[in-house]
Amino acid sequence: MNTDQPRKRRKLRSLCYSELKRFTSCPKQFWLRYNRVDEESVTVETPEAAKGEVVHRVLSGQDHPRRVKKILEKFQAEGILPPETDLVAMEKDCHSVIKIAQEQKKADLSPKTKTEKLFFYNFSFMSKRTGAKDECTLVTKPDRLGEFEEKGKIIPEIIELKTSDKPHSSHLKQLLFAAIVYSRHNLRDKWLSGPVRLVINYASKLIQPEIRFAGQYRLEEYLEKEVQPVIEEINERMETEDFPANVIPGRCKSCPFAAQCDEYQTSLTQDSIL
Ligand code: SF4
Repeated sequence: MNTDQPRKRRKLRSLCYSELKRFTSCPKQFWLRYNRVDEESVTVETPEAAKGEVVHRVLSGQDHPRRVKKILEKFQAEGILPPETDLVAMEKDCHSVIKIAQEQKKADLSPKTKTEKLFFYNFSFMSKRTGAKDECTLVTKPDRLGEFEEKGKIIPEIIELKTSDKPHSSHLKQLLFAAIVYSRHNLRDKWLSGPVRLVINYASKLIQPEIRFAGQYRLEEYLEKEVQPVIEEINERMETEDFPANVIPGRCKSCPFAAQCDEYQTSLTQDSIL
């Protein structure tokens, strides 16, 4: 499908956290992806992204750990990794991250631990914009779910694994989003009564896991203040198909729609004139 034939929908039907994040970063990128405009494969641009790509390929089973060296050599031959990159050190680093990630995946925190299950919550609300009832299905697929026992009480636990080297505020927000959907999945308007334990495991020896407890009040607050306004804004923009580009050159160069984005292409031309 191309940009001339957008899907004729005026309401957002479903939303996952990565779409919410995409919209808040660049509404245009969200809209192009929503309309299934052809994407180019994303080029890996930096050594950090190259490491993430290698780790992701091995953990997702697309590549074997024995091929790490070969993939890094290919990235260097393609100019993604500068010639002076110490490939031996980088290979060692990749294997270390992969090992930690695999150990974390294997660690059985609870016999009830489940992985990669889809959860849905049909969120309905009174639109602050139109005053009418609105709805949108929130979707999540946490890396792992478990149960944690504290003072004789069983607390549900949601665990995400991050391969990045730095904690980011979006990691915790992703877990809050997952906790909202998990808390209401199949329960219609009844929430789980107690808190949910949120765990971010970083596949790096240098970063300790981040553990938070989110009470139901915190989850409701996040839903009302950070999720609902996004749904309302998307619905409003869908009426006029006005999804502005947010050009940030460092990020745009690895956007899968960069070649089709007039605003980004114009910014490149202006840079070359200056
Ligand atoms: S190239 Fe940049 S501005 Fe254009 S859609 Fe992608 S992220 Fe948005």
